[in-house]
Amino acid sequence: MTTVLISGASIAGPALAHWLRVRGMTPTVVERAGAVRSGGYPIDVRGVAIEVADRMGVLPQLRAAHVATSALHVVDAAGRRRVSIAPGAVSGGAEAHDVELPRGELTSILYELTRNDVEYVFGDTMTALHEHDGGVDVEFANGPSRTFDLVVGTDGVHSTTRRLVFGPAADYQHHLGYHFAAFTVPNHLGLDHEAVLHNVPGKIVAINAVRTSPEVTALFAMASPELAFDDRDLDQQRQLIEEAFTGVGWETPRLLKAMWEAPDFYFDSVGQVLMPGWTRGRVALLGDAAFAPSFLSGQGTSLALVGAYVLAGELAAAGGDPAVGLPAYEERLRPFVGRNQALVAEGAGTLIPATRGKIWLRNQMFRLAPLLGRLSRGTTPIERAANSFTLPAY
Ligand SMILES: Cc1cc2nc3c(=O)[nH]c(=O)nc-3n(C[C@H](O)[C@H](O)[C@H](O)COP(=O)(O)OP(=O)(O)OC[C@H]3O[C@@H](n4cnc5c(N)ncnc54)[C@H](O)[C@@H]3O)c2cc1C
Repeated sequence: MTTVLISGASIAGPALAHWLRVRGMTPTVVERAGAVRSGGYPIDVRGVAIEVADRMGVLPQLRAAHVATSALHVVDAAGRRRVSIAPGAVSGGAEAHDVELPRGELTSILYELTRNDVEYVFGDTMTALHEHDGGVDVEFANGPSRTFDLVVGTDGVHSTTRRLVFGPAADYQHHLGYHFAAFTVPNHLGLDHEAVLHNVPGKIVAINAVRTSPEVTALFAMASPELAFDDRDLDQQRQLIEEAFTGVGWETPRLLKAMWEAPDFYFDSVGQVLMPGWTRGRVALLGDAAFAPSFLSGQGTSLALVGAYVLAGELAAAGGDPAVGLPAYEERLRPFVGRNQALVAEGAGTLIPATRGKIWLRNQMFRLAPLLGRLSRGTTPIERAANSFTLPAY
């Protein structure tokens, strides 16, 4: 039986583990964190990825975890609502079909689906890979070395697998001109199934309530050239946000204060991973590690789920032969990934308009969105891209 080491247990990793099991292979998942984490910012599963979730048998659980945001309010510096819309009006009126759930809840659902018949190793990471005719010898930071037939990196935008096998991050990570921070804060506005956002030119402050939770996710994002920051120095990163958003109105001062207490503060540049090839020999990349489209596309999770299905399917169709199965995975998936990565320009224009005039235009577009959605019968660019792939039967 083909043995596959998967590095990373978030979304792409557990989804791939499931499909490899279904196709008769033996996956092992190594995750750097000590456990899978629940909670986190809400992510979307839409288009073809809904079909993948259905085939995995987890769609009812995803629907049960749906955050069901009923209104998105745009407010001015004084907190007055300028526009309120149903989020589905922007994404194509397909809210009845799509699912939005906290990232960690999706991870937990996928982990529960696979944990009984997949080996998970938490609290470890690969440190070196040596490929030879018989497989890949893998060294770990903590555990003993092991040999696998294949290795798949699902370890995110800052993938260790990519660095070890394909080269430095700078070769593949493309800065899109923004930085962002996300963290959890108390739901002091009493938001109930709502999201609220406030813009100044080139900046957004948003809070998103996951159902009626006592906590909300705050998102700060700003246009900026690539900033030098230390990955491990969270206070330095908080300071960058503090400086950029001091003087911004609405709830911003209160959110900035809460940021310093937030246990899950996360800061990064907004970038896409663009690679000329996602596979090399017996090693492949999947999900954000290979083709992160950035959160501006809203499609990272869906690409990871569809990619997991295709990678396992092509590998099985090739009888476990990486020389055939891995290139076939890439060839089949690449056009779909390209169409979804191309969504970022529109996402940035909608979320972070660059000027006052563009903020005004965006608000007008939101006002007209329900009408435009009806006229276009729900076929917005994101819906078209999300549905632009037909799942092979395998
Ligand atoms: C603020 C924000 C909002 C977003 N909103 C959306 C959205 O609305 N819709 C959407 O579709 N997507 C959204 N995304 C993107 C989405 O989260 C990712 O595209 C998706 O999670 C990709 O999953 P993944 O499994 O490929 O990678 P990740 O979720 O990044 O997971 C990587 C995993 O690998 C582990 N890992 C890292 N390094 C190692 C190592 N060396 N060894 C072992 N394990 C390792 C990590 O701990 C993690 O568990 C958003 C992202 C952010 C940050």
